[in-house]
Amino acid sequence: MSEPSRFDRGHTDDLMTFLAASPSPYHAVANTAERLEKAGFRQVAETDAWDGTSGGKYVVRGGAIVAWYVPEGAAPHTPFRIVGAHTDSPNLRVKPLPDSGAHGWRQVAVEIYGGPLLNSWLDRDLGLAGRLTLRDGSTRLVNIDRPLLRVPQLAIHLDRAVSSEGLKLDKQRHLQPVWGLGDDVRDGDLIAFLEQESGLTAGEVSGWDLMVHSVEPPAYLGRDRELLAGPRMDNLLSVHAATAALTAVSGGGLPYIPVLAAFDHEENGSQSDTGADGPLLGGVLERSVFARGGSYEDKARAFAGTVCLSSDTGHAVHPNYAERHDPTHHPRINGGPILKVNVNNRYATDGSGRAVFAAACERADVPFQSFVSNNSMPCGTTIGPITAARHGIRTVDIGVAILSMHSARELCGADDPFLLANVLVAFLEG
Ligand code: ZN
Repeated sequence: MSEPSRFDRGHTDDLMTFLAASPSPYHAVANTAERLEKAGFRQVAETDAWDGTSGGKYVVRGGAIVAWYVPEGAAPHTPFRIVGAHTDSPNLRVKPLPDSGAHGWRQVAVEIYGGPLLNSWLDRDLGLAGRLTLRDGSTRLVNIDRPLLRVPQLAIHLDRAVSSEGLKLDKQRHLQPVWGLGDDVRDGDLIAFLEQESGLTAGEVSGWDLMVHSVEPPAYLGRDRELLAGPRMDNLLSVHAATAALTAVSGGGLPYIPVLAAFDHEENGSQSDTGADGPLLGGVLERSVFARGGSYEDKARAFAGTVCLSSDTGHAVHPNYAERHDPTHHPRINGGPILKVNVNNRYATDGSGRAVFAAACERADVPFQSFVSNNSMPCGTTIGPITAARHGIRTVDIGVAILSMHSARELCGADDPFLLANVLVAFLEG
């Protein structure tokens, strides 16, 4: 077995590039695929017959991607080692009839996707990105990565209570971005603009999945640049680290089949054909077993020996709100990855999962921290319990502690991303 690759600050620099280039799940998947291709992985179509050859392969379905590396000589019952993550982040998404406006303003009608910190979307310069589906059924990524839209906050003179009673935002009325001026708003204006920007002919687009993003690039922050501010760390930080880890271990003779599973729709419950609560991952793993000549028995043996690390962000202790955290579990920024525990199965971790994670951290020579919610606060959840229940796969919830989760611009440590990547390498190598 090769020595674990050691990632450092260069990994975090690369994360900044990945975050900036991935304003939608579709972009995150395309950028992940590009990195996999560079490492020798090849895309397989779900509609094709699969063969049992060794090497790196991946499947793309919408905003989800599953990649795996079959080592030379892997048996049909060889277990998998999976890193699970999600590609989606809370944001504002374009409605079916987007063209609206009032009082001389041109506006875009948006829905709220997931649970964003709504205030964080105010007074930011916003771009527009996502996927266009053309009349011929093909899809095209689009990314207007310049200040195009803004959700302007009401001036304090017109909302004196904001300082004493807090900001109150109505999701329907107060979050519709402006994108210019004009009294002549017509149906089709926004899509016609995107067709023009994408070099398409008018009327070519017949479907769209579009969302807004902050165009402010990620940046190091702090006295010693020990922090990283940027968008969508929840959870592209994990997608990026898992991709780096999978490409680092591929090519070696491994005791397990390493897998990356990056799902869409975690932020609204994972119930879709590209979400963790769908059959995507199980189908890919099963087909991989059968393509290598395996039987149902081989699949059952492989799944029984499989472990999934579900990696997502968690809460670092906030200096201004320390009482909201458990008094003795205080994950710190740059203190290493976190092990997420909840006895009521909001996280899938148990004692045996802890041991798997602790062993990977030890092999990688990386410290880890434990996260548990304050008993008086409802605990968040992620794809871990869903993956465990849906596929009967032993799963451990882990991740990186950040501040401002679900803000348009989150905050993490500059070291934690590469510490996580190093642990994922050790885990995938077994
Ligand atoms: Zn998340």
